[in-house]
Amino acid sequence: MGVRSGMADIRGFLKHDRETANRRPVPVRLLDWHEVYEDFDRSSLRTQASRCMDCGIPFCNNGCPLGNIIPDWNDLVHRDQWRDAIDRLHATNNFPEFTGRLCPAPCEGACVLGIDQDPVAIKQIEVTIIDHAFEMDWVEPIIPTVLSGQSVAVVGSGPAGLAAAQQLTRAGHAVVVFERADRIGGLLRYGIPEFKMEKRHIDRRVQQMEQEGTEFRTGINVGVDVSADEIRQQFDAVVLAGGATQWRDLPIEGRDLEGIYQAMEYLPWANRAQEGDFTVEETPISAAGKKVVIIGGGDTGADCLGTAHRQGAASVHQFEIMPCPPEERSAGNPWPTFPMTFKVSSAHEEGGERVYSVNTDEFLGDKDGNLRALAAHEVQLVDGRFEKVADTDFELEADIVLLAMGFTGPEPGGLLEQLDIDLDERSNVARDDNFATNVENIWVCGDMGRGQSLIVWAIAEGRSCAAAVDASLTGSTSLMSPVKPTDRPLL
Ligand code: SF4
Repeated sequence: MGVRSGMADIRGFLKHDRETANRRPVPVRLLDWHEVYEDFDRSSLRTQASRCMDCGIPFCNNGCPLGNIIPDWNDLVHRDQWRDAIDRLHATNNFPEFTGRLCPAPCEGACVLGIDQDPVAIKQIEVTIIDHAFEMDWVEPIIPTVLSGQSVAVVGSGPAGLAAAQQLTRAGHAVVVFERADRIGGLLRYGIPEFKMEKRHIDRRVQQMEQEGTEFRTGINVGVDVSADEIRQQFDAVVLAGGATQWRDLPIEGRDLEGIYQAMEYLPWANRAQEGDFTVEETPISAAGKKVVIIGGGDTGADCLGTAHRQGAASVHQFEIMPCPPEERSAGNPWPTFPMTFKVSSAHEEGGERVYSVNTDEFLGDKDGNLRALAAHEVQLVDGRFEKVADTDFELEADIVLLAMGFTGPEPGGLLEQLDIDLDERSNVARDDNFATNVENIWVCGDMGRGQSLIVWAIAEGRSCAAAVDASLTGSTSLMSPVKPTDRPLL
């Protein structure tokens, strides 16, 4: 690993504007499912890295739950020291190819340059470092030299489970990851569309983990196919990383009509088509030729939007009950908090209509029980409560409605019930300061304990939980622990 010797260009931020990768032209990218962004030229990236001011107090680092040492790798990239840059990046982040594509980048929201200029293009720099490292075959397995003789089961293979598993394997434990789906990755695999992250990135990382010694068992639902008792007998420790997969529903009149689906009932099919399980035309739940309404204005809604466009939807509306966010930070949302401003994701750029301050009253069906429209009205926020705006009722034709309203916590019953695990007041798995549940040798990390959150928090929790498990199994640990269960984002 190289040694920093100060900034390479102390005036970079005065000379250069922020630039990030171009998105491929909309008419072209809608014809395929490949990632939307073009590669970013590495010499231009060095210019972008030179905009970093190497702040005395790097707020970017504070804004990142992983504690990524961002000014260091900015400097190394500017100096053309790419191998050192990936070492520095991997020191705090197991999967920069995931975060570099999927994280909303609280680091950029906290970047000091962002006070009066566009922030440093941290996420672009991150993803380019790791993509280049893979191209150069620098991402090699890190095989433990000493084995502990202890075994750990990780239940769930999303980003939290994968991070915990990689850390624990490297610490010398025999780790088995259980996944109930047929492929590894959790939401990364079947929630995130191919056009946001091609799944070859997961496969490549899983291959590295297998070479390090992590064992993966797919198609096994722990609590159903294997009992909680069996898992506890077979392993010295168990890490629960099953995510917050219980979706929020909209139990209004007409909810049982044919044509209303949860986002996570819809998105996995499109991803399966890209895995080659069947053709796009054979996708069981598809928006092809249909009038689509998405309820929920967040990232999952945008994932549905981009998927519907690629399937050939006739029209797409995306409903959001909140008002349209401002173009600039509001007074109540100052730097370095995450900017709650109007954003145009790649999916929004591709078409569809975003409808804000709207509430759905009822789903309307035809005589055969199929959805034909929804009834809605405008709302306004009064003293923190939504009130109907008089005389704004309307109907909108819809063949298919996709509910993308977030998740309320882990699925109840099953494994959690068998283990007699305590939940907290928000229905997440309760844990102490060390990610330990109320049941001996059972730990929890990621959305299952925190509730629905960002990928970067999932990886950070996986790393911290692994450190806690390692310390418990061996009496000490050299693994990093970037977050505590009680840590919260800069919001
Ligand atoms: Fe560089 Fe921005 Fe971090 Fe300062 S806050 S060190 S300018 S990336």
